[in-house]
Amino acid sequence: LYNQVQDLKGNIRVYCRVRPFLPGQSNLSTVGHIDDGSITILTPPKYGKEGHKSFTFNKVFGPFATQEEVFSDTQPLIRSVLDGYNVCIFAYGQTGAGKTYTMSGPKVLTEQSFGVNYRALNDLFHISKERKDTFCYEISVQMIEIYNEQVRDLLASDGPHKRYPSILFLLKFSPFCPRKPLHVDTLDIRNSSQTGFAVPDANSVPVTSTTEVIELMDIGQKNRAVSATSMNDRSSRSHSCLTIHVQGRELASGAFVRGSMHLVDLAGSERVNKSEVKGDRLKEAQHINKSLAALGDVISALAQKSSHIPYRNSKLTQLLQDSLGGQAKTLMFVHISPEADAISETLSTLKFAERVAMV
Ligand code: ADP
Ligand code: MG
Repeated sequence: LYNQVQDLKGNIRVYCRVRPFLPGQSNLSTVGHIDDGSITILTPPKYGKEGHKSFTFNKVFGPFATQEEVFSDTQPLIRSVLDGYNVCIFAYGQTGAGKTYTMSGPKVLTEQSFGVNYRALNDLFHISKERKDTFCYEISVQMIEIYNEQVRDLLASDGPHKRYPSILFLLKFSPFCPRKPLHVDTLDIRNSSQTGFAVPDANSVPVTSTTEVIELMDIGQKNRAVSATSMNDRSSRSHSCLTIHVQGRELASGAFVRGSMHLVDLAGSERVNKSEVKGDRLKEAQHINKSLAALGDVISALAQKSSHIPYRNSKLTQLLQDSLGGQAKTLMFVHISPEADAISETLSTLKFAERVAMV
């Protein structure tokens, strides 16, 4: 067992990551001081006369932190999946603050820029190989998105990505994965004693190599883009979730261990000005607010050891029910942009994160 993570049980860890300035941005930063576990934000007079606010987290990654550094702090958590734990990793923050960069990487991927999800799977493959004399592991992935409180399969075999035939290849050659029919409609989240809360009708694809994973994620990303219903970037207004199911059989005893990991790229947390948006855009914003608030409520109810945890208030918290609280391990990456004009979103992001970190 990975003992160092035992201590984290029932805990929510919060890591803050500051995005670097992007080319062409003016270098007026709101970030004052960063050390290993705290960050100071410089605030204009309307936020109070101190001129700065400090926040403490389990870890703070500055703008120069590499993908590898960010991952290495996450590794023990990820490895515990092979020992039968449920793990949940969130990326939270306003649109453009770096959520997708942390979870997947930049649009043009290189080995150095791989995000947490590729590295996580890679690591799971690696350790399962190391343990092959004692355990036989099966690893499979699902990719879904939650958009306007509807769950959709990003790997649907008859989905818009038909143009990308590689998934058909993967699905055809996997004995564990009968092809599921078209799921453009919303899928149900169901509870069963074997799998806990899950989306059984979404395709679950067994994977054994990083090449397959890269291909699958590419398909999922493309499906997310293809199904965009409006002019705006849909991906910032849906939650996407990569779920990894691990089943291990101990060769000597025949006993099974089951673990799961959800890697969630949340919708942008920015508040939308109600006077500026109408129709579909307003509806999207209300769904996002509601589900992020529901996530905050679940986490603070867990913190207060409340007898009632309001999991049922959103699809997101229903789906993650087994991965929040109890024996599960949760990590939230909170992302902020350094720009001066993002200050108000930055402060509200950090306040949300501080509330989560109290658990
Ligand atoms: P989000 O998913 O939160 O909307 P993105 O991950 O798409 O934000 O990041 C916005 C832009 O900033 C992208 O072009 C991305 O490549 C870049 N970016 C984000 N974080 C970093 C980082 N740590 N280092 C370099 N570039 C980054
Ligand atoms: Mg994104």
